[in-house]
Amino acid sequence: MKTTSEIRSDFLEFFQGKGHTIVPSASLVPGNDPTLLFTNSGMVQFKDVFLGAEKRSYLRAADVQRCLRAGGKHNDLDQVGYTARHHTFFEMLGNWSFGDYFKKDAIAWAWELLTGVWKLPGERLLVTVYHTDDEAYAIWRDEIGVPEDRIVRIGDNKGAPYASDNFWQMADTGPCGPCTEIFYDHGAHIAGGPPGSPDEDGDRYIEIWNLVFMQFDRQPDGTLLPLPAPCVDTGMGLERLAAILQGVHSNYEIDLFDALIRKAAELTGTPDLANKSLRVIADHIRACSFLIVDGVLPSNEGRGYVLRRIIRRALRHGWMLGVRQPFFSAMVATLDAMMGDAYPELRAQRSLVERSLRAEEERFAETLDAGMRIFDEVAARSSGTIPGEDAFRLYDTYGFPLDLTADIARERGLQVDTAGFEAAMEKQRETARAAGKFASGTGLPADLVAQMLPTTFLGYQQLEAEGLEIVA
Ligand code: ATP
Ligand code: MG
Ligand code: MG
Ligand code: MG
Repeated sequence: MKTTSEIRSDFLEFFQGKGHTIVPSASLVPGNDPTLLFTNSGMVQFKDVFLGAEKRSYLRAADVQRCLRAGGKHNDLDQVGYTARHHTFFEMLGNWSFGDYFKKDAIAWAWELLTGVWKLPGERLLVTVYHTDDEAYAIWRDEIGVPEDRIVRIGDNKGAPYASDNFWQMADTGPCGPCTEIFYDHGAHIAGGPPGSPDEDGDRYIEIWNLVFMQFDRQPDGTLLPLPAPCVDTGMGLERLAAILQGVHSNYEIDLFDALIRKAAELTGTPDLANKSLRVIADHIRACSFLIVDGVLPSNEGRGYVLRRIIRRALRHGWMLGVRQPFFSAMVATLDAMMGDAYPELRAQRSLVERSLRAEEERFAETLDAGMRIFDEVAARSSGTIPGEDAFRLYDTYGFPLDLTADIARERGLQVDTAGFEAAMEKQRETARAAGKFASGTGLPADLVAQMLPTTFLGYQQLEAEGLEIVA
């Protein structure tokens, strides 16, 4: 059985053998893009190279990039615990060509690694191509030998061409191009249809690798001009691949998660290792720890507020399992044991991570229990929807972020009146403004809140455009 660590090194060795320079993972906080909340794919650190604004000493690169999809355009927070394949924090294996090789080599090497090195049975793999990309289609069929019934053309089913899963672009203008994606069929005993079918969102066919071919430069009027030097950008989820190579269906059953889930089970006294809350806790400890490693601390705005929200969701799952004392920070030792070799920065900062999480646990412990009792009362007398006033009271007095209340509500088949919540929040802001006071939302004094804002973050407009609430 291949361990997750072995898969990481297999990947890097394979692409090193194909002339790629191995590049370290960048931070979860993008260094070159103040409008992006978190690094959500491997290409983020190469954005300027694609745009031609930066030159590197190499034309081929490969890496293992830590990614977070818990805010902004890519937000998988609500999938965690519900699908077999989504995390907030995950590792993306990637290889790049900056104007060097293109479709033919990218596809051939992906196939060679999957079926040659890792010995995946080709008949379990299915590929998609963008509907107009005859070139990629022909490579799969004629050079690799994938039968036509396992090559799916994905069209512009979601409106504009760039809204398709198989057409990628960085922004409204600039570099863009078609993708080809590789899926693994976990078998007919699992619900879900092949990509492009109405029930594609099931977990039978799991997407493992996305190969993006940047070949156009989109003009402001929408026309596509060919790029002088087309590029390749690929991303493959390490945990999804590990699940396949370890013969399990869910990412949460791989070696790395098994250790985290066992630890969470021990700390919370939960015998059923398949318990959904254990999965959520195991997911969230990775996201929270790596955010702190990358310089984000819990706060009431921007990235720090995303971190606080994830921590509080994890703590609420611990509470559901009956835990009434700090447990979350005690997970860090296991995380370090599993990931500290691959990420020395985690090992180096372990104590800071533990202390920050512990402090946040203690703070929320003061109101979590009472807040849950309020939620139950409100739920008992509500008919389907938690009123905005109550959601606001949970937020303002008990430190329940809106998404936490919504998450609890969803589990019980309830909705939250978010418009009512916003209205209550606005009303309180006005009252506070009139009284000349600062409304921090969690009852913390304004000077403390100000001290807790370690990261500069410039993209508020962008965030608002992406629908992320700004609280401060
Ligand atoms: P999905 O359709 O399953 O949500 P995606 O199309 O959003 O995946 P991409 O943006 O193409 O994913 O990212 C490249 C690869 O990263 C995916 O093929 C997958 O292997 C992996 N990946 C994406 N999102 C996650 C996640 N939330 N957790 C774990 N792995 C992920
Ligand atoms: Mg996705
Ligand atoms: Mg997809
Ligand atoms: Mg994809």
